[in-house]
Amino acid sequence: MTGQVSEADAQVLVSDTDVSSAEASSDSASSSGAFSDEVLSLALRTPTLPPATHTQSYALGSRELLLVEPATPYLEEQRRFVEWARALAGQGRALRGIVITHHHPDHVGGAGALARELSLPLLAHPLTLERLDLKDTAGVATQALEEGQVLELGGPTEERWQVLHTPGHAPGHLCLFEPRLRRLVVGDMVASEGTILIEPKDGHMTTYLTALERLEGLGAALALPAHGAPISEPSALFRHYIQHRLAREAKVQEAVRSLGRATTQELVKVAYDDTPRAVWGLAELSLRAHLIRLTELGLTATDGEHHWLTT
Ligand SMILES: [Zn+2]
Repeated sequence: MTGQVSEADAQVLVSDTDVSSAEASSDSASSSGAFSDEVLSLALRTPTLPPATHTQSYALGSRELLLVEPATPYLEEQRRFVEWARALAGQGRALRGIVITHHHPDHVGGAGALARELSLPLLAHPLTLERLDLKDTAGVATQALEEGQVLELGGPTEERWQVLHTPGHAPGHLCLFEPRLRRLVVGDMVASEGTILIEPKDGHMTTYLTALERLEGLGAALALPAHGAPISEPSALFRHYIQHRLAREAKVQEAVRSLGRATTQELVKVAYDDTPRAVWGLAELSLRAHLIRLTELGLTATDGEHHWLTT
């Protein structure tokens, strides 16, 4: 672990001191393949944004494991999560905690229940922890994860997951990057199924674009999103997302130009004329996030209701 990790962290983020090298080598000789580089994941049904219907959970590590996303609020699905976690533990692995990428309901629906059932701490950014339902997490240990921390997971293949604070979709959003494997847990920064909504309450467009650029620069080989299958060329996808948002921003700017002085309800019909009317409600939230960015850039102005170009 690096730098600013507290003692409390050290209890959870154990290194490999409790396993002998002989045990470790017998693990790596296991023919089951269970300790190989495969991606351990489980998709469970959640109340997420359509067309996505599920949130992916991941188990990181070879022997010591961190689970990611206690996502589902549904009892049946929570049972599947618990069975999955216990099956992994039954293979001689050690569960160390449950990481939450951010506070949205389709990522934390089982946080308290699953942490309690499995006697594991919840690990998340402070801005996520403060947004958790306290009733739900009463009696559950929590641990703050900050930018720059490293989560060491011992085992036949030691893994060192770097904590990256990547706000823009949600204030406390975290990604995790393992530089040797070049694997990146991306939460809701991008998805291979459904869309990522940037809206003004939790999100901020410029912050999001900056975070995407940072992720692009990592040169990851595989990204693990919360929605959809693993992404094999993540840097190309981050670039695509950035270009897609900037293309939409140009369309928003053009809509403001053509309407002169307009409300977001008027603008959405023009700036999102290429999307089905059924999603205009969500599109209007995204439009507002773009208008905030354009206003911050000095390109548009607003009286709180109407928007117009400044030049
Ligand atoms: Zn989200």
